[in-house]
Amino acid sequence: MILTAKWLLPISSKPIKDGAIVIEGTKIKDVGIAKKMVNKYPDEEVSDFGKAVILPGFVDLHTHLEYSVFRGVCDDLGYADWKIQLTIKSRVLTKDDWIHSAYLGALEAVQSGITTIADITKSGASLTAAKDAGLRGIIYYEVSGMDYTELPKIMSRMDKDVASWTDKVKDSNLLIGFAPHSPYTVAPPLFKESTKWAREQNLQICTHLAGSKAEYDFVKYGSGQLANEYWDLVGWNGILWQPTGVSPVKYLEEWGVFDGGNILAVHCVQVDESDIDILKRHGVSIAHCPRCNAKLGMGIAPLSNFLVRDISVGIGTDSPASNNTMDVFDEMRIGLLVQRGITKSVDFTAEDFVYMATLGGARAINMQDKIGSLEAGKEADVIVVDMSHSHQIPTGDPYSALVYTANQENIVLTMVAGKVLYKDYSYANLDEGEILKKSEPIRRKVKQSQTNIPVKR
Ligand SMILES: [Zn+2]
Repeated sequence: MILTAKWLLPISSKPIKDGAIVIEGTKIKDVGIAKKMVNKYPDEEVSDFGKAVILPGFVDLHTHLEYSVFRGVCDDLGYADWKIQLTIKSRVLTKDDWIHSAYLGALEAVQSGITTIADITKSGASLTAAKDAGLRGIIYYEVSGMDYTELPKIMSRMDKDVASWTDKVKDSNLLIGFAPHSPYTVAPPLFKESTKWAREQNLQICTHLAGSKAEYDFVKYGSGQLANEYWDLVGWNGILWQPTGVSPVKYLEEWGVFDGGNILAVHCVQVDESDIDILKRHGVSIAHCPRCNAKLGMGIAPLSNFLVRDISVGIGTDSPASNNTMDVFDEMRIGLLVQRGITKSVDFTAEDFVYMATLGGARAINMQDKIGSLEAGKEADVIVVDMSHSHQIPTGDPYSALVYTANQENIVLTMVAGKVLYKDYSYANLDEGEILKKSEPIRRKVKQSQTNIPVKR
């Protein structure tokens, strides 16, 4: 199969005008100028996308597919209030509801050109939906628990669950990873022991880290809304939590959580220079979620300070519960613009952000040898972005067009391992009508659920 278009972005090399990609089975066979490729492989079927860009599928470094029905339910709240409301409203969902919600997320991912996800899930619903949708990625088994007496029980349950999840993803493009949720929801010994255990199992690790000021205050000063209202809500009010006197990053380092590397930290907004040195020293990768960070009032991550140290950084959309859409174009665009706004410089280019959303993200989860760029021998994870609309023409520079003009609706093809998952508004493995229909009543139930904790605005 040969796909041709006005532009082809291999990412690992310069853009190719009038480019083509040759796909054989699950892999990329060749990449080059369309005319040459068609002559070289005369027996291959050719699909021409015209005014469009062919590029590697997006690597979304932070998702929670199962939270998709919470879109627009907890808007306009600061992080701690948002977390409290989300926790309360989550309680009305049944096991089936979580699965339907995750299908809604998988549907959006596929339609948005996301081919690889790094998804944290508590219910396991994301695994079911991502597998059925045909997505690639890491499904991180989420653990939380502050009650020290519960630790042996939690450790034994995760051992059993991870074995069963690993079995479920055997014939798919998914891997199982491990996610201690965050410093304010995981007891220090659980953080230490569980990450040690995960490394022994060869599991990649992911955690939310240094996101909100509320988390920072919780860790350093032992105070704030998370230490009080949130802990009351989840029944940990009888547990003693002492201020640590250090930042969230330093705190995890002191507990040995970074020892052995292989860890992806999500957010990393509340970090100073010494925290960034710690992240670099331990080879921690970062999932940068600029829209979520801004929407929940968490702040703006010091992106250039990460990149100057050559820390692996990719882009994460987070869940529609916080960010409302899984639109990587929006994430790149807003991510770039807020950096320019805060640094008063144009150090970052559109190309930098497309790199982070593809090969940079792949590198952050150790998949750079398989995906993230269009090169012979790599997996055929390919997307095509239509550039024929009035808001995109004229298009002289494909990087500029992708970041400054395109949206998720402009995706016309999503392919994982040579299989078409989405083309021209139809889905190979998902029933769009059914998924949308089932999402509405769940969302209504969530929206109408009562909350007994006042929200400060
Ligand atoms: Zn998250």
